[in-house]
Amino acid sequence: EEEIPEDHPRYQDLLTRHRIETGVEKGITHLQGMHAEGRGSAFDYLLGEETIPSADAAERAAAAHLLLADHPVLSINGNVAALVPGEMVDLADATDADLEINLFNRTDERIAAIADHLREHGATEVKGLEADARIPNLDHQRAKVDADGIYEADVVLVPLEDGDRAEALEAMGKTELVIDLNPLSRSPQVAEVPIVDNIIRAVPNMAAHAQELADAGEGELEGIIEAFDREEALEEAEERIRSGL
Ligand code: ATP
Ligand code: MG
Repeated sequence: EEEIPEDHPRYQDLLTRHRIETGVEKGITHLQGMHAEGRGSAFDYLLGEETIPSADAAERAAAAHLLLADHPVLSINGNVAALVPGEMVDLADATDADLEINLFNRTDERIAAIADHLREHGATEVKGLEADARIPNLDHQRAKVDADGIYEADVVLVPLEDGDRAEALEAMGKTELVIDLNPLSRSPQVAEVPIVDNIIRAVPNMAAHAQELADAGEGELEGIIEAFDREEALEEAEERIRSGL
């Protein structure tokens, strides 16, 4: 990462791409993750590569959901692990959430590599290795979750999730918080809180909101959640992308 000059106009984008490359080399990220990254990068370019006000509001509402939850879980895939491992650990600490590895292309090797990577970044407990429960109505591999993790969670943060899985989790009645740069993708469309922002900005900002709200009462957290308008947030993001074109 040293070789990318910080004053480069596309510094963040180059850094992101570099982290995915390293993730692929380390066996953490599937090659297809590079393709997902490219798609995200295009949307981020059109958004101006910044956290727009509606995304900040979504990040604050998502933090409130995690703080109010009985059992919040943060889902980790290969791109998430490559891009924001320490930041996800910080968010889990700030919200008392579990971290669970969940892969589209699941292999025992990648699961183990990601678990090690998260522990190197400060995680004490990592779920997703047992995979002793199934999400209904999904094909076998993608349905695998931990019985005491995502399966029984009430609030789940699913960054960069594919549409089928997001829909299946929603059908289980979970409160879904989705980070995805494409506001038209199915995952943010089914989310209770769609966060249209780059994960490298979204996760630290959610943790900052959670830390700031650590002593807030239930009433205040519920107020933040009620004041957030998901339709308005999706529309504002789409509007910003259209004007970026
Ligand atoms: P589906 O219709 O199943 O949702 P998709 O076209 O969205 O499919 P995926 O590869 O499953 O394809 O999803 C990748 C998603 O992740 C894209 O919507 C992309 O915008 C988003 N994405 C990629 N990188 C980032 C990032 N760094 N931060 C936030 N979102 C990202
Ligand atoms: Mg998608």
